[in-house]
Amino acid sequence: MECGGTDSDTLVWPHYPTGLLTTPYAWNFLRQKRDKPKWCKWIWQKYQPPTYSACTWLALLDKAPTLTNLQRKGLVREVTSLMCKSEVETVDHLYLKCPFAAFIWSLVLRKMGLQRPRLAGLQAFVDWLDQTFPIGAPQHIMQVAFVAAIRCLWKERCTRLFQGRETHKLQVLKSLYSSVTNCFRGRSLIENNMDLVQLIAKNWDVLITAREFIPTEISWLPPLEGWFKSNSDGSLTSDRAGYGAIVRNCKGEPLRVVAVQEQRLSSINVLEYKAILAGLRLCQQLSLTHVHFESDSTTTVNWLQGKGCFPWQLLRDKHDMQARLADLSEWKMSHSYREGNQVADFLASWRMSSGMTVL
Ligand SMILES: [Zn+2]
Repeated sequence: MECGGTDSDTLVWPHYPTGLLTTPYAWNFLRQKRDKPKWCKWIWQKYQPPTYSACTWLALLDKAPTLTNLQRKGLVREVTSLMCKSEVETVDHLYLKCPFAAFIWSLVLRKMGLQRPRLAGLQAFVDWLDQTFPIGAPQHIMQVAFVAAIRCLWKERCTRLFQGRETHKLQVLKSLYSSVTNCFRGRSLIENNMDLVQLIAKNWDVLITAREFIPTEISWLPPLEGWFKSNSDGSLTSDRAGYGAIVRNCKGEPLRVVAVQEQRLSSINVLEYKAILAGLRLCQQLSLTHVHFESDSTTTVNWLQGKGCFPWQLLRDKHDMQARLADLSEWKMSHSYREGNQVADFLASWRMSSGMTVL
């Protein structure tokens, strides 16, 4: 990319927003992308121990070394379930249909206030869980209980196979309960509707607290004495793109405003960034030295603070921004809620006949 002026040219890789080529970006560009299976969210969660997740992952892919899977590879002949000693040990049998597994699931689900449904297999079980526990603290608890149950069943099956010992199903259940409680020890789950979760919290000995809603009054606040504030905003609809900025002093008096209508529809973050730059230009026209910039876009505020994934298409504007900011004695950038940024919001969405208006 030719930067022009005194800046040296920059090499950009256009297939990633930052323009940088790294191994993860290249891999993501080359790999075949598919939708994530629904069960992903049931096995890769922060509360779940990775060993439990990995064990469940193998089970859901039918890659767990069950006796039937080992027989397929010619490693064993005997495939009778070690738990019930009557059926063939497949993944669905071991983890769901075996009377031993059925007993474990019945009591796990009873603690969630539910009855065990009749299901065709493990994948169908995850679909049912996904519908039954859409959000909230019960979902987090069930996610942990799900992988913990799979892990406990696998552990018990291995104890029987390799050590010739049998643990009573109530003992297995007890260790499952305590592993779920331990996963949440020292943590508190947040929940909107406490009425629905009191019993579940008690059953699993997990701390759940109510989400607090504290109303906040939001309005535009003037800058500190001797400072000026530039509020900016971008606007993008299906047929129009624009941005605007307003500069005000510490008494709240407007000094200058700009509204720009763009010819091309770009991304909202690009417009937000250009809006900040437009506000900065106004400040320089007014020879201001202390400026507080406010934008309601978290992404662009992060960009200004050197965080996040900066798009290479804006590199020229970035150089311009940096040079202009360096001319100010002091500046700061902060996020403002939309309610505190209403004038800039109006300027950004102002439908004008000409491309730019400065007042
Ligand atoms: Zn069995």
